[in-house]
Amino acid sequence: MAVMDKIVIANRGEIALRILRAAHAMDIKTVALHSTVDRNLKHVGMADESVCIGPAPASESYLNIPAIIAATEVTDAIGVHPGYGFLAENADFAERVEESGFVFIGPRPETIRLMGDKVSAIKAMREAGVPCVPGSDGPLDDDLERCHKIAREVGYPVIIKAAAGGGGRGMRVVHTEAHLHNALQLTRQEAKSAFGDATVYLEKYLQNPRHIEIQVLADTHGNAVHLGERDCSTQRRHQKVIEEAPAPGISDEQREEIGTICVEACKRIGYRGAGTFEFLFDDGNFYFIEMNTRIQVEHPVTERITGVDIVREQILIAAGEPLSFTQEDVAIRGHAIECRINAEHPETFMPSPGVVEGFHTPGGPGVRVDSHIYDGYRVPPNYDSMIGKLIAHGQNRDQAIARMRVALDEMVLNGITTNIPLHKWVLRDNGFLKGGFNIHYLEKRLQEREA
Ligand code: ADP
Repeated sequence: MAVMDKIVIANRGEIALRILRAAHAMDIKTVALHSTVDRNLKHVGMADESVCIGPAPASESYLNIPAIIAATEVTDAIGVHPGYGFLAENADFAERVEESGFVFIGPRPETIRLMGDKVSAIKAMREAGVPCVPGSDGPLDDDLERCHKIAREVGYPVIIKAAAGGGGRGMRVVHTEAHLHNALQLTRQEAKSAFGDATVYLEKYLQNPRHIEIQVLADTHGNAVHLGERDCSTQRRHQKVIEEAPAPGISDEQREEIGTICVEACKRIGYRGAGTFEFLFDDGNFYFIEMNTRIQVEHPVTERITGVDIVREQILIAAGEPLSFTQEDVAIRGHAIECRINAEHPETFMPSPGVVEGFHTPGGPGVRVDSHIYDGYRVPPNYDSMIGKLIAHGQNRDQAIARMRVALDEMVLNGITTNIPLHKWVLRDNGFLKGGFNIHYLEKRLQEREA
């Protein structure tokens, strides 16, 4: 007997396919929800049923809560998997799913709400003993003098961030006291118009940190484990480009220490499902910045080094099963790297939608391709430009890099422009080969290349 009879996949692209694969391997039937331009998505053809939930604009389809609830009802599904992006971190959606009598494959709505507001998330994490960036300890009020005092105490440079911010937006670095007032006003205005919430807070701006995050899993029986860390410091415009696990230079003791802190925090807030604690890592210290209450794009690198199928675990936890393994069972083997393949120009980064004419995936030991594209597939201009992920695993980082280079060379993807040349270039860059660089490294190298 499957743990659930049927689930709805409320997403598109590679993650929808990833969810379908996990579900079918568990004998769970799937319902693919799609927009009018997404009829030809790979997983739509593979799903047991499919329902068109609206036109191309995401606001009318993948973000259309009534349409998704209705489709879940008419197909007699039990659970809803939100994937990442779209409604994955929308507490109102999770609540609607549960109020309608379905299982939301993700954390409790209260948890999503708590973590969705960065001010309340930081407060909860501080109380749970998670190290946070020194900062305002709550929202900034309109008293300018008080703001000045806080910034002075924290020490410049500081960063003003929107409590409701996300996707790298709603942040402003302030280097000197003279600019604080203006920056506060601008960030508040932006936060109000972009997120409908003008609440801002302030943190010490760490100048050259690495981005290191911890993957956790928690069930509804009070058990929680961590699956080690990922290094996501290869970024452009605060967006991750390449991720790897484990993080170069992080010792087993450091992993155990920060991992245990995250596990304890999960137990304290009654976390449910898969989640990620994001940290900035500076001078040997971890500083919590936010928690993602969903599956992440980069989850495969953790799957490769731990052997855990994270999407399967999400479904089992949602079905009320206890975790089938303990922290002692989690062993880290080798090293894994993921390259995000985007339909974009490798130098200008302009999106390049169009028809895929010729697609051959690489293979061989340690190579995994998570992608929904195929020969003749039309990449629509309406959504994110990511069209797949290439993951390489090896016994160590050098072998993972070597396998990734071969895989990138082997991949044939014609008809559209992709960032594969960028990945080939990064995978031969000396600083990348050394590892352990900070979040500004890729942009610095891109600037140098241009000059
Ligand atoms: P979002 O939710 O928009 O992704 P985050 O809080 O996760 O925002 O921050 C995104 C990125 O912004 C981080 O990965 C880092 O590059 C930068 N950043 C955020 N806070 C700080 C800080 N206190 N110091 C330095 N960089 C920061």
